[in-house]
Amino acid sequence: MKMILLGAPGAGKGTQAKLISKNFNIPHISTGDILRSNVSQETELGLKAKGYMEAGALVPDELVLSLVKDRLLQEDCEKGFILDGFPRNLQQAKALNQMLQEIKMNMDRVFLLNVDKDEVVVRISGRRFCENCGSSYHISLNPSKLGTSCEVCGEALIQRTDDKKEVVLDRIKVYEKATKPLVDYYRAQGILEEISGSKDIQEVYDTICRDLQAV
Ligand code: ADP
Ligand code: ADP
Ligand code: ZN
Repeated sequence: MKMILLGAPGAGKGTQAKLISKNFNIPHISTGDILRSNVSQETELGLKAKGYMEAGALVPDELVLSLVKDRLLQEDCEKGFILDGFPRNLQQAKALNQMLQEIKMNMDRVFLLNVDKDEVVVRISGRRFCENCGSSYHISLNPSKLGTSCEVCGEALIQRTDDKKEVVLDRIKVYEKATKPLVDYYRAQGILEEISGSKDIQEVYDTICRDLQAV
């Protein structure tokens, strides 16, 4: 099962991807998580990506494409994967198609998580994030049972620097302009499934599972 989760920043892609990954036992590939870990380890890629991420802009395609290519070639992707945060523009989507053709794979499903802009802003503003394992919480909508520590790994939760108010609206604009055209792109391929992402986490997950059973 190969799928993409599409949606505005804060729509719940990471949250759903973690659930799907655990239950279907396929890797969750978040380009945001991979880039953040490169930034914190100060790798060459991280140093190049940092400024774009802090400003809420997209990291240049060539950097992201090469990291995705390396990741998809790893053995654990053979039985399927969940892409979260990639592709983010048409060039990336076309490059992904090309990559999949080369390794004789095709995409099964693209889930679009539809959430209103106001709700997305609320979700991002209260997001708390575990840098160690990538789990997301929300101070009121989805709090950690361990308060300010991660339920999964116990690490202290942080607020992402790009989740600060000043950057959030810019990220939403980037989504509208660069990423939203992918909705039509995947609809035309007949693999788009629109999901109402404003329901609670379990309901959204159940909807995705129902659809996956039909694939
Ligand atoms: P969110 O989960 O809020 O949508 P991500 O964690 O996916 O955010 O991405 C955080 C930042 O990392 C983006 O604002 C962008 O700078 C960078 N990034 C992540 N994925 C990509 C990508 N596919 N192409 C370019 N930049 C990316
Ligand atoms: P994305 O990866 O799309 O940026 P996240 O999965 O990190 O989004 O979720 C953004 C924020 O919203 C987090 O604080 C998360 O706990 C919360 N959240 C995710 N899904 C829901 C939901 N269905 N209802 C309420 N809050 C949610
Ligand atoms: Zn954690």
